[in-house]
Amino acid sequence: MVIENAAVATVDAAGTEYASGHVVVAGNLIEAVGPGPAPAGLTGVRRRVDGTGHLVTPGLVNTHHHFYQWLTRGLAQDSNLFDWLVELYPTWARIDEPMVYAAAAGSLAMMVRGGVTTAMDHHYVFPRGAGDLLGAEIRAAAEIGVRFTAARGSMDRGRSQGGLPPDFAVETTDEALAATEEAVATHHDPSFGSMLQIAVAPCSPFSVSTELMRRSAELARRLGVRLHTHGSETVEEEKFCHELFGMGPTDYFESTGWLGPDVWMAHCVHMSDADVAAFGGTGTGVAHCPSSNARLAAGIARVPDLLAAGVPVGLGVDGTASNESGELRTELRNALLVARLRAGEKALTVRQALRLGTYGGAEVLGRAAEIGSLEPGKLADLVLWKIDGLAHSTIADPIAALVLGAPAPVTLSLVGGVPVVEHGTLTRTDEHTVAHLTRTEARRLASIAGLA
Ligand SMILES: [Zn+2]
Repeated sequence: MVIENAAVATVDAAGTEYASGHVVVAGNLIEAVGPGPAPAGLTGVRRRVDGTGHLVTPGLVNTHHHFYQWLTRGLAQDSNLFDWLVELYPTWARIDEPMVYAAAAGSLAMMVRGGVTTAMDHHYVFPRGAGDLLGAEIRAAAEIGVRFTAARGSMDRGRSQGGLPPDFAVETTDEALAATEEAVATHHDPSFGSMLQIAVAPCSPFSVSTELMRRSAELARRLGVRLHTHGSETVEEEKFCHELFGMGPTDYFESTGWLGPDVWMAHCVHMSDADVAAFGGTGTGVAHCPSSNARLAAGIARVPDLLAAGVPVGLGVDGTASNESGELRTELRNALLVARLRAGEKALTVRQALRLGTYGGAEVLGRAAEIGSLEPGKLADLVLWKIDGLAHSTIADPIAALVLGAPAPVTLSLVGGVPVVEHGTLTRTDEHTVAHLTRTEARRLASIAGLA
């Protein structure tokens, strides 16, 4: 496939851009990227795409989500994190396999339609007898054709142990570890171009025992997979850590083996200078979720300081019960806006925002050698954004159009060279069918949980 006549933002190390350039895709790989038209004399070209009026970027990489929350959007509208969790846990504890499948299909359809080519989910609610919840998500991701990291979460600190979730929503420590190990053995594909990877992901310090934190880190390192959790999201969490562990979240993570280049954490809003330095020194990554942090009034992460310290930073939608939009393309803009509200007009540029949503995400997921930039030999995960319509045609800088403007329509999105979106429409799933299914399952959950 040859894409020509489009602006190209490669997001490579030098930030190479072409005002008008080409991308050549061969099989699942990028064969060439450069200025002007594609080289003459290419043989075996099956499709030529005229990218006039478009910008080509690497596909967006989401680094934090909770698909199941698609069924509980718009609830606890005016709560902070802890109140929101306490209100929603009893409902979440009623989820089952068909609900999680529907929620995953809805979450994924929303993101993929908007330029996401690598999705991630952190699933940590496993009610007894609910079925194969991780398997349901994996099925939904395979059907839509997106690259996927499934983080097998866990909770073993119920209300009676001083945690936030109700006791009936948590597993035992041993059950959680055994199921996580089994998920890695069954599903994890570490090969180049993998469509499915598993990470080890206990939920958060306030829902997980210290033993589960420690043993999860050991398990992930024994199996050679990545580690993920929530960290330093709110002031209440910081207070909780001091009361329970006698130290702040970052020190607690360090004491349980949770800082390192194989770890990434969601949020990291409340970080001291020493915490930022600890993340930078160990290569611990961050999934920055600006909309969710605003929705729950958690605060604004110190992204410019994290980047300056060498911390890998990607963007996250977070669960859609705290970011009802479910989009990642809007997080580019929101990351820039909140960074400037916190640290001034030079805090983050449009190009840095694009890098967070692409290469930064690839780094955080441990896949920067495969995805996140448009370079020969990398996987052909890319998006052709339409920027000559009403919403963008008067913005001369294509990257400013993408980041500062309204969400840009996706004309074409490729995952490993395979189209997953054509002219704004999912190629392998019907979004109206998904909308109907998710509404049905959301009503069933509300009814079981006594909300309706
Ligand atoms: Zn989260």
